[in-house]
Amino acid sequence: MASTKTKFISLKGETLNSSLFTKAWFERTVSRLVLENPLNRLTDYGGIPIFNKPMIGVADGADPVFELFLAAVSPSHVMPRDFLKRNSAKETDLSHISVISWVLPFTQHIRDSNRSGSWPSRLYSLARNNGGTLSHEVCCHVTEILDRHEKVGVSPSLAQEYDAFRSSEHTFASSWSERHVAYAAGRGHFGLNGSLITPMGASVRFGSIITNLHLEPTPIEKGGHMATCLEYEGENCDRCIERCPVNAISRKGLDKERCYTRKKMIEERYMREYTSSMKMFPHLIIKSGKRVNGYSLGCALCQCGVPCESEYPEFLMKEYN
Ligand code: SF4
Ligand code: SF4
Repeated sequence: MASTKTKFISLKGETLNSSLFTKAWFERTVSRLVLENPLNRLTDYGGIPIFNKPMIGVADGADPVFELFLAAVSPSHVMPRDFLKRNSAKETDLSHISVISWVLPFTQHIRDSNRSGSWPSRLYSLARNNGGTLSHEVCCHVTEILDRHEKVGVSPSLAQEYDAFRSSEHTFASSWSERHVAYAAGRGHFGLNGSLITPMGASVRFGSIITNLHLEPTPIEKGGHMATCLEYEGENCDRCIERCPVNAISRKGLDKERCYTRKKMIEERYMREYTSSMKMFPHLIIKSGKRVNGYSLGCALCQCGVPCESEYPEFLMKEYN
C-alpha cells in the first residue's frame, strides 16, 4: 500500500492577520494547496496534473436553502451552525457562519481518457482516487491554517459526525452533501445525471469547510436548480443517458442503486490490479458509521464526453451534434 503523510505546504509571503481571511485569500490558498501539492501529480503518467485551478464559492450558513437539503438529501443533513457548534473544540462565536465550497476540476488529460468505452479509464481511476486523498489534505491544511490563527474551521467530510448511508427515501444519503453545498455556494446547477454542472463543468470534485468568519456569499445561480442542464432547457440532450453503460440514467433522473452496483463491479474488477500496479494513495472512507483508510474507484462516464463536461453546456453543444 502506498502511503502519504500530511506535509503542510509553506505559504510563504502571506501576511497573516484577521483581515486576511477573505474569499480571495481562500481561493488563492486552496489553489496553491492543490497546484503545488506533489499529490496533484501522477508519477505513473509522467507527472501529469490531476486538477486545474480550483474555484471557490461561499454560502451564508443561515441561508434557508440548507433547510431544503433535509428533504432533498436526508433529514440527517446537518445545518452548518450545528456542525460548527458540535465539532469545534473552541468556544465559538456563532453570530455569523460561512460555508466555503471549492470545486476541483479534472484536467483535460484525465477527462479525455474517460470519454469512451464501457469502463472508466485506468488514468481516470487513479486520478479520482489520488484526487480524493489530495482533497482530504486540502481540508486538513485549511482548517489547520485557521486554527493556527485562532479562527474556527470545521471540514464536515472529516468530522466524526459525518456519515454516508443507505436511505429508504433517497437510496443513498449523507449528513453533508458536497454537491448540494456547492449549489448553495452558487457554484452551479444539477444535471439529469445528478452531477452538479459548475462553470468548470461536471467533471469535478468538491470540498468544503464551515467557519464563523464573515465572508460575502456567492449568490445561488438563477433559473432554478437544473437551469444549466440541456434536458431541462428542452434540448433533448440525452448524452449522459447514452454514456451510461448500465442504463442508470433516464429522463426521470438517476437510478442510484444501478449506479452503485456498477461502482461495486468496477471495484471488484479493477481494485486489486490498480492498487498493486500504480501509486495509489489511501484516504479516509466513511460509510454506515465505519471509518477506514482505503481506496475508492468510481465511474463518471456520464460526466465525460458530454456537453456539460468542462463548462456550461450551451457553449459546447455544437461539438456533440
Ligand atoms: S449530458 Fe446533457 S442531459 Fe446530461 S446532465 Fe449534461 S447537459 Fe444535462
Ligand atoms: S457514474 Fe457510471 S454507472 Fe453511474 S450513472 Fe454515471 S455512467 Fe452510469
